Amino acid sequence: MFTGKSDQLFVEAKKLIPGGVNSPVRAFKSVGRNPLFIKSANGSHIMDVDGNTFIDYVCSWGPGILGHAHPQVIEAVKEACNNGLTFGAPTENEYIIADMIHEAMPSMEKIRLVSSGTEATMSAIRTARGYTGRDYIIKFKGNYHGHSDGLLVKAGSAALTTAVPDSSGVPVSYTQNTLVALYNDKDSVRELMDKYGEEVAAIIVEPVAANMGVVPPAEGFLQFLREITKKYGTILIFDEVITGFRLSYGGAQQLFGVKPDMTTLGKIIGGGMPMAAYGGKKEIMDKVSPVGTVYQAGTLSGNPIATTAGIETLKVLKSHPEYYAQIDKKAIKIAETIRKWAKNKHKKLQVNQIGSLLCAFHTDIPVIDYDSAISSDTASYAEYFNYMLEQGIYIAPSQYEAMFVSAVHTDDEINKTCNIILER
Ligand SMILES: *Cc1c(COP(=O)(O)O)cnc(C)c1O
Repeated sequence: MFTGKSDQLFVEAKKLIPGGVNSPVRAFKSVGRNPLFIKSANGSHIMDVDGNTFIDYVCSWGPGILGHAHPQVIEAVKEACNNGLTFGAPTENEYIIADMIHEAMPSMEKIRLVSSGTEATMSAIRTARGYTGRDYIIKFKGNYHGHSDGLLVKAGSAALTTAVPDSSGVPVSYTQNTLVALYNDKDSVRELMDKYGEEVAAIIVEPVAANMGVVPPAEGFLQFLREITKKYGTILIFDEVITGFRLSYGGAQQLFGVKPDMTTLGKIIGGGMPMAAYGGKKEIMDKVSPVGTVYQAGTLSGNPIATTAGIETLKVLKSHPEYYAQIDKKAIKIAETIRKWAKNKHKKLQVNQIGSLLCAFHTDIPVIDYDSAISSDTASYAEYFNYMLEQGIYIAPSQYEAMFVSAVHTDDEINKTCNIILER
């Protein structure tokens, strides 16, 4: 099954593009097969170049909360294209989307638009350092914030210490100001802050971790981060690139009622186009150039087509507040079905679900952090993935990614998906 044009294209692509893909997870390496080359997608469906159609639960890794090719978004983008693709000068759109973001997340008093989540987190950290005059940052093991050098780290050999590069090509000197704490472990944060607190510019966290599978914050964990950062004058950055406009219109910060100093956004706010943002308190953001001394720029930042797609996506979400409860219900149904399957088959399985994000870990210990997440049997996941794909269901080709449910998955499609899960 599926051999044909995808396989041929993969052979050709590998000659010109490292691994044949422009982002590693697309290579399907951890599920032991060749990737499907995609031709088109519409609503909840995605179609490959061989004409196979799948119900899609990857949703482009998060942007697709309205599914693919939402008519209102496509119409607006087509019209915007007629007016030119980029001007390198301010546009009304940039103000409009900044205003929509600010309204959704009042903690983002001022906002700068950029073109990727990587750029947003990198710039937010530079700004936090510029504002505080401090060099250290704390990140959490297993949280992902894009691929900038200082964030591409793993914990050093002593459990809690400065980080070491998690990629070749990253000089050790670039990671010496990154400290690594353990997600959902207050003591690990306290220990680092006791020692380095006065020198820590920022703590950056995924308020719901969704890049080591899905791991929600423990009760009180985000509140604790808010308190301890306040105590030391450290900037609290919520990386809401996945959770923003997904867990609620106001993101994780609205859902958990915790107000960060700075926030990074991406994925949904671009409506499928390359756009991201960082923002926060006025006095912090006024450190950014041209007002302040923190340099940051972008030729295509706030691009008119990307902002159009983003604005229309947010408009649809805003005018349909019921979508959030609906997608949550669909995700809950899938999560419960996976649990039921595990029970029927006496399998060890943990299903973490929050809002429209879910993830099944093949392990018998509750998954609350990185170490428990990696106890998952990834070979079991690969089997599950391949079974689902052969039944016409496209889920993430990696254990450590979320399953994304969109507003346009119909009840019939959810039921079909659940039946396929149970029949395995
Ligand atoms: C996807 C993601 C990023 C990186 O965004 P890119 O647009 O891929 O650079 C950063 N942080 C989180 C939490 C993400 O999920």
